[in-house]
Amino acid sequence: MTVQTIGVIGAGLMGNGIAHVSAQAGYDVILSDVAMERCTAARATISKNMARQVGKAIITQDAADAALARITLTTDNGAFADADLVIEAATENEAIKAKIFAGLTLKAGALLASNTSSISITRLAAATDRPAQFVGLHFFNPVPMMQLVEIIPGLATSAGTRTAMQAFAARLGKTAILAGDAPAFIVNRVLCPMLNEAIFALGDGVGSVADIDMGLKLGANHPMGPLALADFVGLDTLLSIMKVMQDATGDPKYRPAPLLVKHVEAGWLGRKSGRGFYDYSGPEPVPTR
Ligand code: NAD
Repeated sequence: MTVQTIGVIGAGLMGNGIAHVSAQAGYDVILSDVAMERCTAARATISKNMARQVGKAIITQDAADAALARITLTTDNGAFADADLVIEAATENEAIKAKIFAGLTLKAGALLASNTSSISITRLAAATDRPAQFVGLHFFNPVPMMQLVEIIPGLATSAGTRTAMQAFAARLGKTAILAGDAPAFIVNRVLCPMLNEAIFALGDGVGSVADIDMGLKLGANHPMGPLALADFVGLDTLLSIMKVMQDATGDPKYRPAPLLVKHVEAGWLGRKSGRGFYDYSGPEPVPTR
């Protein structure tokens, strides 16, 4: 089946990025959220991000205008009757996602994907009317900038669905990897325990925020220190991924660092709350320890 019309459910951080790159790749996009203000805010974000790409000569103004015009907004999840592929990027909550899937009326051959970071694809697929055409499609934030997409087939996902997703990712200009339907898939499974370990090291007094981050930047050639990256990801998100891995495997190696738990309890969630392992209130981030 030729994919031309993409539905994106959830116009938050990830949904607006997925709509952005899909429209830019020439797809017609239907973007939905629970309230029209969220949809219009997402379109304003996409427009601003495209203007930045125009400013950097990555795309032309005409291409940006045409891409923006390909995006239609709706609050009705029944609006996807003509979509060839629907990508769910709503709040990370299994009950919300299952309710969305139950309310969808899609055409027979349409494909359905979830951008979930942590929920079992096989279990989500079982809550849909099309497990063979259901797949995990995990984008990275910010979507227009990040090259990678993880494709996660569930137990029932057909080979044809997997191949169609590989073709879709390629048309978006992304590099796709195949990941098993295991907690946190590939990237977060490897990355999050490393960030958590950096927080253990900080809590144990092994190094300061600045020294731990400098150590990994210069000693392991990472572009960003692990504590700065944890702040960027969001400490609440990191904590929830660690808990998912710990609960799913029962393996104590995934236990969250106590200092991570304390930061989340304090509401120090990283960049988005203005404070995490760095203080973001001034012109430059300042280490807090
Ligand atoms: P977000 O909170 O920014 O956006 C979620 C949006 O979903 C909100 O605008 C919310 O109003 C909307 N929504 C909730 N219920 C809805 C419904 N019934 N119909 C339509 N829209 C609904 O969250 P996000 O960071 O964009 O995350 C979305 C998904 O992407 C989650 O599954 C998350 O795990 C995953 N993800 C997030 C990241 C990240 O770095 N933030 C990275 C990869 C994957």
